[in-house]
Amino acid sequence: MTEKTDILVIGGGITGQSAALAAADAGARVTIVDAARNAGSTANAGSLHVQMQSRFLRLNPHLADNLESSLPLYVRAVTAWEELDQRLGGVELVRQGGLMLAETAEQAAFLEQKAEREIRKGLDVEILDRDALFRHAPYLSERFVAAELCHNEGKLNPLVANRKMTAELDRLGVSRHVDRIVQIGEENGKAVAQGAERFVADRIIIAAAWGSGELARPLGLTIPTPGEPLHMNITEPAEYVIHHLIQHAERSITLKQFASGQVVIGGGWPATLDRDDALPAIKPQSLTGNVALAGEIVPAVVGLRLLRTWAGVNTPVDGKATLGPIKAGGLIHFALPGDAGYTLGPIVGRCAAASAMGTTPPMDIAPFTPDRFAA
Ligand SMILES: Cc1cc2nc3c(=O)[nH]c(=O)nc-3n(C[C@H](O)[C@H](O)[C@H](O)COP(=O)(O)OP(=O)(O)OC[C@H]3O[C@@H](n4cnc5c(N)ncnc54)[C@H](O)[C@@H]3O)c2cc1C
Repeated sequence: MTEKTDILVIGGGITGQSAALAAADAGARVTIVDAARNAGSTANAGSLHVQMQSRFLRLNPHLADNLESSLPLYVRAVTAWEELDQRLGGVELVRQGGLMLAETAEQAAFLEQKAEREIRKGLDVEILDRDALFRHAPYLSERFVAAELCHNEGKLNPLVANRKMTAELDRLGVSRHVDRIVQIGEENGKAVAQGAERFVADRIIIAAAWGSGELARPLGLTIPTPGEPLHMNITEPAEYVIHHLIQHAERSITLKQFASGQVVIGGGWPATLDRDDALPAIKPQSLTGNVALAGEIVPAVVGLRLLRTWAGVNTPVDGKATLGPIKAGGLIHFALPGDAGYTLGPIVGRCAAASAMGTTPPMDIAPFTPDRFAA
């Protein structure tokens, strides 16, 4: 069977869906094909990240410049989510800022230097001393001496967002197929993708996260897309007191509360993964370590029952988005957000759709060209 379409999007996570939405809005016939395996978008925590995450800097010091140069994209990404929130009729988006906490003078100094770098990139951040921190967040443990408050940050409920996004794509007539694409290329002025089915399109957008590297290799690009298996927890509902997105200057944690009162706890604790397309499995040490740390940070979390714990696959690539055509005027375009990809998905998808349709993207995508991965 051959499916013919204007724009074929490979990968139906938040990035591919956002690209499909923008292309359909512009009048294109759009098809999404997805292998139905391991979307980070169906496992993620709903944090809207903007400030540089200490975990990423700690694990990837060699990629710090990539992350820092991407900060304007993160700022714009939050606006894209606010627009989507409006359009979809609400995804529980709250933007009351994100706190990165310091327990020692050394951690506070790290945050001060980080804040200076971020201000130069246009972020709205400030350093809070102990008194100011507890005025903002009286729910925190008293162990903290300072924090960086990033006013751009926030949170949303990805379960609600994913459901409403799918409904919106259905409303626009975007066609969806479950298939794993194994090869893509160009034939007779058309882009083609081969899975169990064959797809022929004017343009292809690759938004396949961990599956993208394999599709790109025969096209001359070596894009590092190994999956990073990560752990998540969610508690029973409790009184709503945690308004911010919470992180730590040195320890791996993200912590926030949904409108339901449930506390979502994650932040990069490892899970295990045999192959990118296999299902990840949780590690008991990540479960206990992650929730114990949450209790040290917000005492009200102690004693809450854990409702669910799960693992998902993240695809940080090189800490920077990969966006645009393989070659100028080419038929095959990339839409890979890199780290914090749920935050970046809507803006990256929109930029990729514009790139594929030859219109002006909402941001300059030249810094994110896939050229850096050419052999
Ligand atoms: C546990 C966890 C928590 C996270 N928390 C946050 C957070 O709070 N905030 C944040 O900003 N980010 C977070 N992330 C990262 C974020 O979830 C991802 O970066 C983001 O969802 C990526 O979206 P995507 O659409 O680019 O890719 P994905 O959502 O990963 O989707 C890729 C899709 O491509 C499909 N695919 C792959 N190969 C092929 C192929 N060959 N053919 C067809 N289909 C294919 C897959 O089936 C998959 O559905 C988290 C990640 C994890 C794992």
